[in-house]
Amino acid sequence: MDKYRVKPDEKINLSKFDTKDTSLWDKSKEKAKSEVIKLNEELEKLQELLYAERKHKILIVLQAMDTGGKDGVIRSVFEGVNPAGVRVASFKVPSPIEMDHDYLWRIHQQTPSKGELVIFNRSHYEDVLVVRVHNLVPKNIWSSRYEHINAFEKMLTDEGTTILKFFLHISKDVQKERLQERIDMPEKRWKFSSGDLKERLLWEDYQKAYEDMLQKTSTENAPWYIIPADRNWYRNYLISSIIIKELKKLDMKYPQPEEGIENLKVE
Ligand code: ADP
Repeated sequence: MDKYRVKPDEKINLSKFDTKDTSLWDKSKEKAKSEVIKLNEELEKLQELLYAERKHKILIVLQAMDTGGKDGVIRSVFEGVNPAGVRVASFKVPSPIEMDHDYLWRIHQQTPSKGELVIFNRSHYEDVLVVRVHNLVPKNIWSSRYEHINAFEKMLTDEGTTILKFFLHISKDVQKERLQERIDMPEKRWKFSSGDLKERLLWEDYQKAYEDMLQKTSTENAPWYIIPADRNWYRNYLISSIIIKELKKLDMKYPQPEEGIENLKVE
């Protein structure tokens, strides 16, 4: 899985990354789907342990171009986890109150507490992506943010949060297909916004903004993974596998039960 992990300060050229790559899976697509179901069960057990132990905090960051598959990952990878210990935080255009604060204010409020797993559907990274592409603040402001973000995430990891960041990398052609599908299929139309077509015209600017973000903010403690995401099944398989691998490293244990209860009989 390490081949998808961005090394600190690695120069990234996204056009060199194959969005259709499936190289870590040599069996059929159907077999991968059943493997994801097995992985779901494994994740379910690990998340139960996380919740019971109440020691670690897990933050999963999802970023992607429009139609990149964030919603699909949330639905498929986290199917079966206990909603009591899992939360999705979606970050949209900031509200007037959020705009009156610094850009990390709304983010910090949503970070996980002990025992919790939180999925960021978009994140503070929008503040070096959409904000940069649309010149919502001057360059000297957004360009200082990489440093703030690294310091913020270092603080979170020092304080016991595990951070995993996934960039779902799709091709421009696949985005075209998926947008067209949203127009053509009545049950998908609710997802379509004509604004997505305007954003699509800025594809190259976004790719550049993503490349800089990946290079400047992938750290030892809070790494970015570039996930080939043209094929949903492979995207889900990779993300499930990486999360499980990282959760296993935490060596979590159920809390010690009360002493002397083994032989108790409930009357
Ligand atoms: P999604 O595309 O994630 O399913 P929406 O269609 O509601 O959800 O899009 C959310 C929008 O909010 C995106 O266009 C995104 O760029 C925008 N957004 C998120 N964070 C910010 C931010 N900090 N500043 C400006 N726009 C933002």
